[in-house]
Amino acid sequence: MTELDRYSQLVFAIAGPQATGLKVDAGAVSMMLDVSEMTTDERVQIEAKLRNACEQAGAQSVRIMLTAERVAPRIIAVASGKGGVGKSTLSTNLAVAMKLAGRSVGLVDADIYGPSQPRLMGAENSRPEAEGKKLIPVMGAGEVPFLSMGQLAKPGQAIAWRGPMAGNALSQLVDAHWGKVRDIIVDMPPGTGDIQLSMIQKHKPMGAVIISTPQDLALMDATRAIGFFDTAKVPIIGLVENMAGYVCPHCGEMSNPFGTGGAEAAAVELGIPFLGRIPLDIDIRLASDAGTPPALGNGPIARAYADIARHVIDWIDSPKAPTA
Ligand code: ADP
Repeated sequence: MTELDRYSQLVFAIAGPQATGLKVDAGAVSMMLDVSEMTTDERVQIEAKLRNACEQAGAQSVRIMLTAERVAPRIIAVASGKGGVGKSTLSTNLAVAMKLAGRSVGLVDADIYGPSQPRLMGAENSRPEAEGKKLIPVMGAGEVPFLSMGQLAKPGQAIAWRGPMAGNALSQLVDAHWGKVRDIIVDMPPGTGDIQLSMIQKHKPMGAVIISTPQDLALMDATRAIGFFDTAKVPIIGLVENMAGYVCPHCGEMSNPFGTGGAEAAAVELGIPFLGRIPLDIDIRLASDAGTPPALGNGPIARAYADIARHVIDWIDSPKAPTA
């Protein structure tokens, strides 16, 4: 057995295929270590083991170059000033529509007050498994992998997530085995409090999509959310208007229970892009409750989500600076 074979064997026994490019030159051992799938603790341990083993085998010096073949996924936050405006529904359908447009996209449900993605993604009973210390996302509707705060609690058990606990739980969801996923849509908790602030400071979203219903009160909350992201230096991708225009399923007449166009006018006033409008439609709620995201259909609703996804994709591919 050559000296190189000897080192090869012991390096493989510790780091498997993650260690490559092994060289041995007059007692100087060098190699590359792909750390993209390791937690920080794992990396430190493996590095120490490799060093020790090589030194015990007679190496004079050991050089380990760390590489990360996979780049960290980009985070797109979906946020609202308050609950109940359709933020979770938009997050699901935005992710599904981006996937249909050919993107490698995943979804994280960070809504600590009411994690609803397991139901919306039609995977209520799936639990994520762990490999090493990292979670493996569960496959949801439309072949979108996702992880939810709801999966970290026992079924039927409510968790009163407090600040630091919520932060650590979210880190587990974001630092998971995302594989080839490049963009992660994060369904944020509603509102603009400390929990939301520490989440965005820690995970630094690339941009934020804000959703609002058209009436003035909701728009005031949305405006607060926009100011909040501006202050945190997270660029606003744009504003989505939800529950605008109701088509009566009986007579076909269009009415506007929450008004219409308010969000578009607000977006113009605030100088941020308007990304699109989703009508108030009973089919959206029925399909969502059944775990079949309406973005998977082929009618006007699916097209509305596809248009919003197109705007978001274009933005990701050429991001703008924060407006603040
Ligand atoms: P949030 O995440 O802002 O709390 P959800 O996405 O959970 O809001 O939506 C609240 C409720 O409204 C859900 O029952 C959902 O199915 C429904 N919903 C959301 N958007 C629409 C819409 N455009 N038309 C009809 N129902 C909707």
